[in-house]
Amino acid sequence: MSLAHGRPYLAIPGPSVIPDRVLRAMHRGSPNIYEGPLIDMVAGLFPDLRAVAGTTGHVAIYIGNGHAGWEAANANLFSKGEKALVLAVGQFGLSWANAARAMGIEAEVLDFGKSSPADMGRVEAALRADTRHEIKAVLTTHVDTASTIKTDIPALRAAIDAAGHPALLAVDCIASLGCDEFRMDDWGVDVMVGACQKGLMTPPGLAFIWFSESARLRCGQSDLASPYWAWGPRAEPEEFYQIWDGTAPTSHLYGLREALDMIREEGLPQVWKRHHALASAVWAAFDAWSTGNPAIGMNVADPTHRGWSVTAARFGAPHATRLREWCESKAGVTLGIGLGMAPSTEPAYHGFLRVAHMGHVNAHMTLGALAVMEAGMSALDIPHGPGALAAAAQVVAAATRHTGP
Ligand SMILES: *Cc1c(COP(=O)(O)O)cnc(C)c1O
Repeated sequence: MSLAHGRPYLAIPGPSVIPDRVLRAMHRGSPNIYEGPLIDMVAGLFPDLRAVAGTTGHVAIYIGNGHAGWEAANANLFSKGEKALVLAVGQFGLSWANAARAMGIEAEVLDFGKSSPADMGRVEAALRADTRHEIKAVLTTHVDTASTIKTDIPALRAAIDAAGHPALLAVDCIASLGCDEFRMDDWGVDVMVGACQKGLMTPPGLAFIWFSESARLRCGQSDLASPYWAWGPRAEPEEFYQIWDGTAPTSHLYGLREALDMIREEGLPQVWKRHHALASAVWAAFDAWSTGNPAIGMNVADPTHRGWSVTAARFGAPHATRLREWCESKAGVTLGIGLGMAPSTEPAYHGFLRVAHMGHVNAHMTLGALAVMEAGMSALDIPHGPGALAAAAQVVAAATRHTGP
């Protein structure tokens, strides 16, 4: 028998659950794109987009997904043949490097593996070794969505400064924006890449680049910044259409407006705290499960290096795939696949999964997903330690006892 009938829950790290408010806001006929309310509404998006990023800098919006965001950053930061230093702690850092290489950028990758945080000593050494300052920018993920490792951005900034290197710092915040604390200006970030379909709770289709004044002055002359990708006219348009280099993505913009309202109503610091509390509940459950079966465990050992929006875990092949299939078909919860941990053609692939707790998600959704996972482990005879659900519930209870919202 299946117990999946009812509202399904897509607990994969993007696209995230879209709030009904956002869907309703998008459900409208085409507005006039030349004058009237749309123009005013879009003007109001920019201050709120700056606020979620923690910057007073420039914002360029692209019609595209996260890969479009990478391409936009690459196109504006580098000319063909120029050099990037890329930090990789999982599949997404490697993919950004590959995207850069495909555009003719020379990408030097510092690969820290799939389960360890970036070693800032190595970063500093690589920059010091670049005595001719050929590296134009350092690229990194904030949270790598595959490994779920979080990179310490202030420490990275400090490493660049300690090396006395002028490279710009560009950070992919697609998995963490609106989930995990991020402060672009305070942390000395020059370029930040985002997309709308994760913490910003809007269907896939918008990518964002925030860039500092120093990035604006040093970039934008690149031979890769073709008319569609050049960030200048998008951030400082003379005509409305230049923001999009064409027709505005009208429905998406109304959806984004609503999502930004929801974040403002809750308060960004509270949004971060909610994600941290729900992540902590997931981590407590995994700690308990792994006591009864060492094959179960989180990918990132130290909680300070874990992202707050998604948790990568191993279950011992083939149990991760069995559990994912059970959760979806029997209980209506879709968990994320393990990405980049093992090739999909190998048996080991079936030992990894990810639990997302990203965007429009609350205690009952996360506790429900954990309870479904435990039911699946029981149904499939996957050995696991006791007390996971009680431990997760304790974390939620403790979080609600804190004063404030
Ligand atoms: C999701 C994600 C991407 C890619 O986004 P797409 O919309 O799939 O192109 C890139 N980087 C990070 C960190 C992500 O989480």
